[in-house]
Amino acid sequence: MDVVLGAGTRYLDTRRADGENLIAVLASLGYQYVSNRAELAAATGPKVWGLFSDEAMAYEFDRQMLHPEQPSLAEMTRKAIDLLSADPGGFFLMVEGSKVDWADHANDPIGVISDLAAFDDAVGVALDYAEKKGNTLVLAFSDHGCGGMSLGSKATDATYSKLPLEALVDPLLPATLTGEGIGEVLGGDRSEANIRRVMSAHYGISDLTAAEVAAIAATPAGSMNYAVGPMISSRSVIGWTTSGHVGEDLFLYSYGLNKPLGLVENTEIAEICADALGVDLDQATASLYAEAIPALEAVGATVFVDASEPQNKVLVAQKGSTTVMFPLDKNLVEVSPGAAGRSFTMEGLTILAEKTGKVYLPQNALLSACKLLAR
Ligand SMILES: [Zn+2]
Repeated sequence: MDVVLGAGTRYLDTRRADGENLIAVLASLGYQYVSNRAELAAATGPKVWGLFSDEAMAYEFDRQMLHPEQPSLAEMTRKAIDLLSADPGGFFLMVEGSKVDWADHANDPIGVISDLAAFDDAVGVALDYAEKKGNTLVLAFSDHGCGGMSLGSKATDATYSKLPLEALVDPLLPATLTGEGIGEVLGGDRSEANIRRVMSAHYGISDLTAAEVAAIAATPAGSMNYAVGPMISSRSVIGWTTSGHVGEDLFLYSYGLNKPLGLVENTEIAEICADALGVDLDQATASLYAEAIPALEAVGATVFVDASEPQNKVLVAQKGSTTVMFPLDKNLVEVSPGAAGRSFTMEGLTILAEKTGKVYLPQNALLSACKLLAR
């Protein structure tokens, strides 16, 4: 991967449970590391890794008002395309508007609008590039539905045929923050006066009931979408069927090179992308995910997964005085003793499939390890 942009700094820096500093590792691998919008704008690459928040990126509405130091999804998309398109061999870019799902779980329509609009802007950036460049495939789709949002609800059973568009739209228009932003602006002051002030200023709701005020006062900041989302939904005519995922068909928008049309099975998306890239998935699977344990045992090695450090398990193969270690989820292999403590980089990762107990390795690394252990 040449360009990775998003959030979750605390999962890579020294706050990790195992104390590893993976941000230092990124620098050693040649990535330019950036942590805010200005640094991203100035980054020249070719390899860039950007983390813009300890946990998740802000919703777009909240980003504009509360976290302008973070880049927008469209800005990240534009930068990623600028960097990746320098490669004459072409590129693959995946862009996710991931918090649309979070807002749907919370039944917060403002979160959905905020981040669906941000995703739409990002798709626009990709389409601009594809139109100029040609020879490019752009796909935009959801990986699943969530929340079962509807325009019209049980509350409109008797009135739907006469409801004007304004009944849907007008209650939503004044909102300038998502529920998460409301939680942030409220901060520690959960007095009734502050709740009424913030909900009026940023959500356009000035008729909170006493029960609604009490519900907001009792909700932790990180869950505020769940409290205020349903409040604005009921003032509009938006219905929700669940706080979980739903199974209906989804829209697939496609543009450009051999674009798919019609009804497409979700697993076909991978094949469509592979075809566009000229990648043979079967061949890539064979070379990157060879089953390790039977092959290592076949040369007489004792093989086990060392889980003594649960965060950093290691596949170990031993025979005689030779030990080969494959830390899980890393592209490293360590061999000892020989030229003691030798460490090599592999072309892929060591993967443990927890359910089956099978471990997969890049084929080349597995063949080399088998050769070494067979001696
Ligand atoms: Zn979800």
